[in-house]
Amino acid sequence: MHDNLHLKILGDRLQKFGPDGCFMCGVDIPPGSKLRTEEHVFPKWLLRDLDLWNRSVTQLNGRLIRYRRLVVPCCQPCNGVDLSGVEARVKAAYFEGFDAFKQLDRRDLFIWLGKIYYGLVYRESLEPRFVEEQKGERLVPNEHLESIAFHHFLLQTVADRVAWAPPSPGPASFHFFECLDSEIPEWRFDYMDDLYVPMLGLRLGRIGIICVLQDWGRSEGAQEGHLVAAREVMLHATQFREVYSRLSYMTKAFWRNNGHLVVGGPERATVTYDPQPPFEGVTETRHLAEVLASAWQVPLEAIFDGDRLCSTIFDQSGEIASMPDNSSLFPAPFSPIGLWPWNVDLTEEGFLP
Ligand SMILES: [Zn+2]
Repeated sequence: MHDNLHLKILGDRLQKFGPDGCFMCGVDIPPGSKLRTEEHVFPKWLLRDLDLWNRSVTQLNGRLIRYRRLVVPCCQPCNGVDLSGVEARVKAAYFEGFDAFKQLDRRDLFIWLGKIYYGLVYRESLEPRFVEEQKGERLVPNEHLESIAFHHFLLQTVADRVAWAPPSPGPASFHFFECLDSEIPEWRFDYMDDLYVPMLGLRLGRIGIICVLQDWGRSEGAQEGHLVAAREVMLHATQFREVYSRLSYMTKAFWRNNGHLVVGGPERATVTYDPQPPFEGVTETRHLAEVLASAWQVPLEAIFDGDRLCSTIFDQSGEIASMPDNSSLFPAPFSPIGLWPWNVDLTEEGFLP
């Protein structure tokens, strides 16, 4: 539907695929081109601060790639002019702390998080699915990038070519959760995203943020008990995955397709949208349990007995569960195993009660 939006409305800044175009504006920058730069999907300052520079992330095909190698082709004007202002403001807020991060301008946050989401998909579209077939099938096919063309169109706000009316809430919902920090690098960072709805969750030290990139503020109205309670405490790594999973489930189960009127252009196009109704619908406990089991990397039966579903936000007496630090372990209620990041067999020696 939005395939030709860039061309029809803006006339340029097309969505390009492959290693020779700028991932943001589509301009040709083959290797050797003067305007070619590399944009780190996760910024360098963040990787250094969280001590992730030399650490690895597992890709869709199970191969490991170092965070610092997660780069996409980007032209000099996009990297050095358009994106750098946003980057500087997000960086300053990050180092100031959770409250400053929460106060960031919504458009800055949309660009920053939307760029990470899009950049990762783009990066995976450059990778071969099989190492031995360098020119063969891609890890993520171009069709998947095409399916998020409207997101790419909205990202053109970075060059002030796309805006929306009303200006707030804008395309995305943001959910902030203060988290427990740690001395151990592996426990200071988490990233989750979703192939079927454009959303992502990031935990960066004390800052936890979950963003639904295109629900036009809708999920911010969710008054679901677990989400409300989760804002009362500093979340443990396991708990942050629970709130992400709950938001992911709700977003998917109650998704609404919005039609948008795009007016103006080519200098500047404006996307109009209507106020969003609250979530409504019945939670299918089993489906929610499947999302949670996947996030906690445990079998479904370990956390769901067909009737009761495990939660790490409330303890057994119904109080909000507050943990002293990230080293504590949440055991699964129906199997002797720990929930992510402690996926250990609790019957093994050392874990016996
Ligand atoms: Zn560019």
